[in-house]
Amino acid sequence: MAYYMQQIDKSNKEPNDLTIKRKCPICNYYSIGQIIKTRENMFGLGGTFYYHICKRCGSAAIINKPENLEKYYPETYLSKKIYPKYKNLIVMFLFKLYLIVSPNSTLRKIIDKRFGTPNIFQIFNNMLKESKFTSFNNKSILDIGSGAGQWLIWLSLLGFKKRVGVDPFIKSTIQYNRNFKILKGDIKAVKGKFDFIISNHSIEHSQNPQKIIKFARKIINNNGLFVIRTPLIDSYAFKKYGSNWVDLDPPRHLVLLSKKALYLLASKFNFDIVKIIYDSNESQFIGSELYKMGLNLSLIKDFKFTDKQLLNWKLLSDSLNSKEEGDQACFILKPI
Ligand SMILES: [Zn+2]
Repeated sequence: MAYYMQQIDKSNKEPNDLTIKRKCPICNYYSIGQIIKTRENMFGLGGTFYYHICKRCGSAAIINKPENLEKYYPETYLSKKIYPKYKNLIVMFLFKLYLIVSPNSTLRKIIDKRFGTPNIFQIFNNMLKESKFTSFNNKSILDIGSGAGQWLIWLSLLGFKKRVGVDPFIKSTIQYNRNFKILKGDIKAVKGKFDFIISNHSIEHSQNPQKIIKFARKIINNNGLFVIRTPLIDSYAFKKYGSNWVDLDPPRHLVLLSKKALYLLASKFNFDIVKIIYDSNESQFIGSELYKMGLNLSLIKDFKFTDKQLLNWKLLSDSLNSKEEGDQACFILKPI
């Protein structure tokens, strides 16, 4: 795929002046911050991209966003895929069981080992623990940046009354059934209120995270929870790899947030951050090492790292997570 899709876009313009003051889309502060020059690395599509790092909150924002951003989300893009039905059924049943059995049960240990940690089961388990509810029965959930709705499908047996996804990069709106649909479009296409809102590695794809958090606050029920999973730029991996950090992911990632930025945004829009789960894994090293060698992610199958390297990166990721230096985290926000 890397070959036939190569260089689809040479139209993105290089910025004329890299030394001017720029406004941070996260905290609105104007500064002349560090510039990161990098390239599209996931598919090897070509193009040079620049990010500006805000001097106040440390977040990065893309300077030269391409006009035809949809071209960077081919149909093979991860969130557009849906598992085959039988696999979905297995996950759906495991999900239901996971939330019923005791925290120390063998079943949970097996699932955690198979799916890695933290996994979707653990995330929802944590959400339930942090919420005022004892189950998801009759609750509503919105998935911002849902792709085709894979996560919402997996929630099928948990009792949700309403499941809605929204995503600007899918082909068209998908109506699974009366209470389960995926809207193509901007978050403002969403109607109604929700008990749970999740943004699973999607806020970094928006040029305006303030708009998303502001809107989420407007449509969340008082007892609800808003969960944001996102890469973090104030991480060991970014310090080590810089422009080769796998989670820069230009031009799909339009902003990369820092922990400080998430606190600023939460407070500005009347949310409390009640829990942070650092959930980086060895892919922060695998991807970044590939990029450092000038390769792209589509070549990963042809390139083998040693078992020792992979184990070391896994252990290092666990250690970074415990020190709050992992390159991604899950923020659980409560409305105040
Ligand atoms: Zn800022």
